[in-house]
Formats: sequence, structure tokens, C-alpha cells
Amino acid sequence: MQISFLGSTREVTGSCFMVQAEGLRFLVECGLFQGGRDADVKNHTFPAFDPESIDFVLLTHAHIDHSGLLPRLVTLGFRGPVYCTHATADLLAVMLPDAAFIQEKEAEWANYDRRKKDGALKEEVAPLYTVAQAHACLRRLQTVDYDQELRPHARVRVRFRDAGHILGSAIVEVWVESGDQTRKLVFSGDLGMPGRPVVNDPTPIDSGDYLIVESTYGNRLHKGMKETVDELAHAINDTLARKRGNVIIPAFAVGRTQEILYLLMDLVRQGRLPRNLAVFVDSPMASAATEITLKHQALLDPETRALLAWFRASPDAPYLRVTEDVEDSMALNKIRQGAIIISASGMCDAGRIKHHLKFNLPRPECTVVITGFQAQGTLGRQLVDGAKTVRIFREEVPVRADLYTLGGLSAHADRDALLAWLRHFRQPPRCAFVVHGEEETALGFAELMRARLGWTVEVPRPGARYNLA
Ligand SMILES: [Zn+2]
Repeated sequence: MQISFLGSTREVTGSCFMVQAEGLRFLVECGLFQGGRDADVKNHTFPAFDPESIDFVLLTHAHIDHSGLLPRLVTLGFRGPVYCTHATADLLAVMLPDAAFIQEKEAEWANYDRRKKDGALKEEVAPLYTVAQAHACLRRLQTVDYDQELRPHARVRVRFRDAGHILGSAIVEVWVESGDQTRKLVFSGDLGMPGRPVVNDPTPIDSGDYLIVESTYGNRLHKGMKETVDELAHAINDTLARKRGNVIIPAFAVGRTQEILYLLMDLVRQGRLPRNLAVFVDSPMASAATEITLKHQALLDPETRALLAWFRASPDAPYLRVTEDVEDSMALNKIRQGAIIISASGMCDAGRIKHHLKFNLPRPECTVVITGFQAQGTLGRQLVDGAKTVRIFREEVPVRADLYTLGGLSAHADRDALLAWLRHFRQPPRCAFVVHGEEETALGFAELMRARLGWTVEVPRPGARYNLA
């Protein structure tokens, strides 16, 4: 039996692993490469194998860096099932067509630029995949419940366990029979940070012959939740009561938006924010993700279910408004004070958030609350780095609003939480493979695992293949 590491090797995107045994071949994850110079090339040259030869795909969760190349796999000939949880399938039904729409737009712009430059177009840029192809891919999804045994193949057993990262996210346990041996592989997917609202804590796993573990924050400790919540409460109270402006919160549509909503509602319930809080969610994707979250209430943690019950029953619950269309969204730009606007994208480089920043950044009485990681080169990063002016829709926009950066919200386990999760293994795996972390982080975390746990650890290079016997 062999495993090949086709993505998220010494980087954080493009998750994809191929397991092969005699007469059997399957993938775990099929993620899009994002950011970085050669992401485009990697996406367009994927896959380096025959898609028809794959029996099935196991998918840990809906994030595009884990799922975003599935439409390409299907378009190029994969005919088998893709197994994931119900909530993941619901999220993918929104996220994959949206990713395809972005690909189509990017190709259109690239062709427009080429035409402008060269007059005529020698070769059209084709999108990585189209919206129609994304919809075709969705038909390959087959859903599984957490903790149920799945038999995707006569010699393979699979179990999805709650990873506590986003709604429907899973750790995948796979037992593969090869010859007269059965080996258990554990794919951590992305592991959540214990104690965070909305989703449950990651399920402890106590055994496995081989472990493939993420390391996104393998070198960092997150700020405490208490100081993060205190800072959020202060930012909002100061803006609404003293400065009399608006609070703009750029947030990732899936996961982060729901977490922010939880924190706001909880602060109102505790009496730390005013009861008449007006909260607007202005992002079609965030609205869809929030709706899907409410549909899968059984997957939410007990604190969140209790809060939802309060929200429905209490006259003190704040006014929550989800914008329906562009007119609704534009109407928000007329509000001068008292609004809390949560919008995407989380890094401020696309989507409706750009309009809200354009209108509110120049006003000192307003506040922008950054709630997540801001990659190099994004508008969000410029703000975090203290830019005095930024360019939005080809206009110079002065930055006069206050800026808060909340460090404690993360959908990923930090270094100590990862180690604590690993310590649930009763025996060391034969080998643990560290993936889904920047090179330095992955190497550092592997070293830490060797030192603290005494395990055999590898940090695979792109395309590396290992024998699992
Ligand atoms: Zn993820």
C-alpha cells in the first residue's frame, strides 16, 4: 500500500492525498491551490494522474482548499462517488458554483485584458471550470453521518468523526485491507480549536497506523478568547455610544460570520452590548452559510443551541437583518450610525465588503474590526499594516476609521491544541505525516512532535510517495 502527497505539502492549500493498494486507488481531499505565484499553474496542471483510475474520493470539509479541484477531477473523467457529511454537501452546493463563477469572471477579465493589449485574441483563456461543471460535480456527492461505518469498497472501511473546524468538518479514519494486513490511516483534515463557539470540539482519536495531520498553526498559540471578546465589546460600545458611527466587520462567509454572530448575540445576552443592536449580514454566501448552519442545529455545540433558543424567545434579542439583494446592500451605505455590518470577503479583496469600506473608512467615527488572517497583497492586509489611504474601485480612500484586529478567532487548533489532540493516541503511529502548514511551520511542528511525543514523523515534499506496509 502506498500514499502520495499531491498537495498541501509544506504549504497550506491544495490538499490532496492518493492512497493505492492492489486494485484500489482513492483520494482524500481534492483542494484548490490558492495564493502564491504558481497556484494557477498547479491548478491548471492538476491532476498528474488519470482521474478515471480513481475509485472514490473522501472529503473532510467544504473549504475550497480541500474541495476546490473536485469539479476539474469530474470534468476530466472521474466517475466515482465523493463521500462527505450532509452539512459539507450543503455547503459545497453553494461554494463550488461560487468558486466556478469566480473562475469564469477571472478568465473573462484575462481575455479582455489580452484583447486590449494585442487587439485580437490568439488564444482564449479558459476558466479552470465552469458553473455548469461545478453543478455536474455536485451530483457525485454522497453523504455520510458522523461515526457511521461506510464501505466505499470491499476492502475499505471509513468513519467520519467531527473535526470541530467548520460545520460538517470531519476527521477521516480509513481501514484498508491489503494482502493479509489491515492498516488504519487517520486524516485529521483541519482541526478546530477546542472551546470555540458554534461547532463542537475535535473528536479525540486514540489509534492509527498512519496519521496525516495538519499544522497550520503548529508554531503559534492563539490569543485567549476572553481578551478577544472584551476587545470586540469595547470596539462596538465605543463606536456606537461615544463616536456614533458604524462598525464594519469583514468576515469569511463560512464559519467566521456565524462565530461573530454568536459572539454578538452572547454579548447582548450578557448585557455587555445594548439590546437594540442592529446587526446586518451582507453577503449572499454568508447568508447561505448561516441558513445551512441553522438547518444542521444538531451539529452545533450545546452553548450555541442554548443561545439560539434564547435568541428566538427573548424580547431582548438584537435585530438581525440579512440583506436579500444589491438594493438592500446599497441601502446600508446610507446608514450613518448604529449599524454593525458583517460582510465578505474576509480579506476585503472582493465582494460587498469593499463598498462598506469605501463609505465608512474615511469617517473617524466608524470602526473596522478585522477578525481573521489577512494574506499579503490583500486590502485587509494594507489596513492591518496601517495604510493611510487605500485604493477601492479605482479611488483613493483615506483611512480615518479606527481599526481593531482580533487575534483570538481561529478555526484551526493552535500548537498546544494540536499536541493535546495527538496525545490521545494510545500508541505512536508507525509514522505521522505533517501537512497543511507553511514549510517552516510544518518542519518546526514535526520537530516538536519528535521531541515531545517521541514519534516517527515525516514532512512530505510535493509529490512524495511512501510505502505503508
Ligand atoms: Zn478548512
